[in-house]
Amino acid sequence: MIVKESSKAIAEMPGIFQNPAFMGHEQVVFCHDEETGLKAIIGVHSTVLGPALGGTRMWNYANDAEALRDVLRLSRGMTYKASISGLNLGGGKAVIIGDSRKDKSDELMKKFGEYVDSLSGRYITAEDVGINTHDMEMVKSKTDHVTGIPESMGGSGDPSPVTAYGVFMGMKAAAKYRWGTDNLEGKKVFVQGVGHVGETLVKHLSDSGAQVMINDIHEDTLERISKTYNATIVRENLFDLDMDIYAPCALGATVNDETIGRLKAEVIAGAANNQLADELRHGTMLREKGIVYAPDFLINAGGLINVYSEIAKYDRAEALRRTEDIYNTTLTILTEAETHGITTHQAALKVAEERVAKKREQQRA
Ligand code: NAD
Repeated sequence: MIVKESSKAIAEMPGIFQNPAFMGHEQVVFCHDEETGLKAIIGVHSTVLGPALGGTRMWNYANDAEALRDVLRLSRGMTYKASISGLNLGGGKAVIIGDSRKDKSDELMKKFGEYVDSLSGRYITAEDVGINTHDMEMVKSKTDHVTGIPESMGGSGDPSPVTAYGVFMGMKAAAKYRWGTDNLEGKKVFVQGVGHVGETLVKHLSDSGAQVMINDIHEDTLERISKTYNATIVRENLFDLDMDIYAPCALGATVNDETIGRLKAEVIAGAANNQLADELRHGTMLREKGIVYAPDFLINAGGLINVYSEIAKYDRAEALRRTEDIYNTTLTILTEAETHGITTHQAALKVAEERVAKKREQQRA
């Protein structure tokens, strides 16, 4: 009876491979272990440019479908982030379903490491939301296909400062494009989320003489950062603030139907992934409103560039040099978008997709 019912359920599933949400992934691995309670999904979007690299996120998803959607979207994003940054890496990501404070154990992380190892390097993992250094040590005890490990273990350490530097470079390029100068002195910049990346970004901005406004859900963090960098705390009507630049550094999808109409910023440049709730529609709305949007997956790639140094064996100075290049790439993308009458997000995707397509053709030849 159970067999019959489950085969009926499978037969009724809509065509997965035809579903646009599947986004042409090469491989999706469902990992289940009853003993440790592990429920994970590894998404390998593309290995055309190299092994699929992307972090593991542990999150209490409302249901399995939400977890699947997240891993598919995030792993695809990694393909484009690596491609546009000129890295020989593909795109992948993993999600572990569960509450990272209650459901995690060393045994669960080790089991996950065994699944990563079973992919023989097609997927390389790293830290993401809900996963810490200790967890990565557990994973590493079962597989070598791990990056972003602490410097004390021979790795490249916390990627966040490099991510922040790249975001700062992307922001300066967008300013240059918008105002003809990349000098941020006196510019009013609102940084939403002052965590690992946001704090370093605030530091760069403050050093440049910008007027920085900050918001976060943690009051103690806000107070500390406000004092350290002379930043103004803002708590209400965030999207009605008088600002020149909006830097989303907390959550995705903050650029949406509700916020675009209210935003007074002329530039959007931040670290958060998937800032546009709807890539095409909201990208178009920004374009029509004359707001310069620096594509998130382009300007937040510094961390990935840094992590890649563990594989490509280059040093921190080289990682920073490559991250600095985000400035030039951003300017090129913004100009391309204008030339072709498309959104900046579309222009960035086009460049990223073309590099993957070219490599695929070479591999077929
Ligand atoms: P983090 O968790 O250290 O910081 C996020 C901060 O946002 C925290 O201080 C949190 O309290 C705050 N926050 C959460 N919800 C908020 C809300 N509703 N309003 C205001 N503040 C809120 O994360 P991070 O490593 O700094 O990353 C920030 C963003 O950048 C994330 O979206 C992440 O996916 C993205 N990103 C990070 C890296 C990296 O190297 N760390 C690389 C690429 C992209």
